[in-house]
Amino acid sequence: QANEKESMYLVSEFAQKYFHHTLLETEEGKAIGLSYFKERGFTSDTIKKFGLGYSPETWDAFTKEALGKGYKLEYLDKTGLSIVKEDKQFDRFKGRVMFPIQSMSGRVLGFGGRILTNDKKAAKYLNSPESDIYHKSKVLYGIFHAKQSIAKLNNCYLVEGYTDVIQMHQAGIENVVASSGTALTPDQIRLINRLTPNITVLFDGDAAGLRASIRGIDLILEAGMNVKVCTFPDGDDPDSFARKTSYEDLQLYFEENAKDFIQFKASLLMQEAKNDPIKKADLIRDMVISISKIPDRIKREVYIKECSRIMDISEDVLFNTLAQLVKKDL
Ligand code: ATP
Ligand code: MN
Ligand code: MN
Ligand code: MN
Repeated sequence: QANEKESMYLVSEFAQKYFHHTLLETEEGKAIGLSYFKERGFTSDTIKKFGLGYSPETWDAFTKEALGKGYKLEYLDKTGLSIVKEDKQFDRFKGRVMFPIQSMSGRVLGFGGRILTNDKKAAKYLNSPESDIYHKSKVLYGIFHAKQSIAKLNNCYLVEGYTDVIQMHQAGIENVVASSGTALTPDQIRLINRLTPNITVLFDGDAAGLRASIRGIDLILEAGMNVKVCTFPDGDDPDSFARKTSYEDLQLYFEENAKDFIQFKASLLMQEAKNDPIKKADLIRDMVISISKIPDRIKREVYIKECSRIMDISEDVLFNTLAQLVKKDL
């Protein structure tokens, strides 16, 4: 079993080198993949640092190369790098720019591959399938390059996608990881908690991003961690925003706009509820539910007081609601 996993790591590392080489050294890679990355504003250093690549537009060039180098079909199949059908085998990734996904210790676990067109019908990103070495729900994209900075700055920025992580690094902010294609999971949060108890959620400035932030908040609170949320103007994500903003302005933006979760929820809910008292009541209940997730009783109390102040509702009512929600430990 240990040997089997090691063989899967080795073939994944070979694939990473193959895609990287194809990007930088072949005509097709340079003309299509490299020019795509350059267009997105990625520098050569960034491309190297993240080991980005390109998978050629063929049926089986990668698979043939790997087999020729002595990698076993079994592991090409198990990592999902090749698709094996009867006696034929094909490359999974074709004509895509490739983002290797690394573990905390830097091993290659799998890939995300992006199509180059903006064809709305095709899936934008294709990811490696779940395997013995790649568990989507337990991996955070960028953690290998971010871990030192997260520990040092005692904060972790959490974004949605590969390009958000990369563009933030390029802008000089390295304490950033992405959940990449899955809703945030408790395992991913635990991974961050090994480095810092503080998370700042930076999700896309659209409805989907907002929903994802809200879901993420309760999970982070449940882990006993501190969560802030910083939103972006509609239509921006951290990638597009960082690209047009200097390091200093970016820092300033986060300082001015990162709100503690309670402030974030309050302003959001106020916008939604406007003057509808029934809605407002539902929303206050919703905030208390978030607060009830916090394991530490003193922190819960502090937040109830804060909530009472912001929402202009008596502490008693809020404490009673809270008590119903956390009966077990009161
Ligand atoms: P880009 O800037 O390249 O368009 P993005 O990161 O802004 O990409 P989003 O649409 O905001 O893309 O999605 C966020 C993340 O969700 C992506 O980085 C990717 O990890 C994942 N994702 C998006 N679309 C898909 C898909 N069709 N299949 C699997 N994962 C996806
Ligand atoms: Mn999005
Ligand atoms: Mn996005
Ligand atoms: Mn984007």
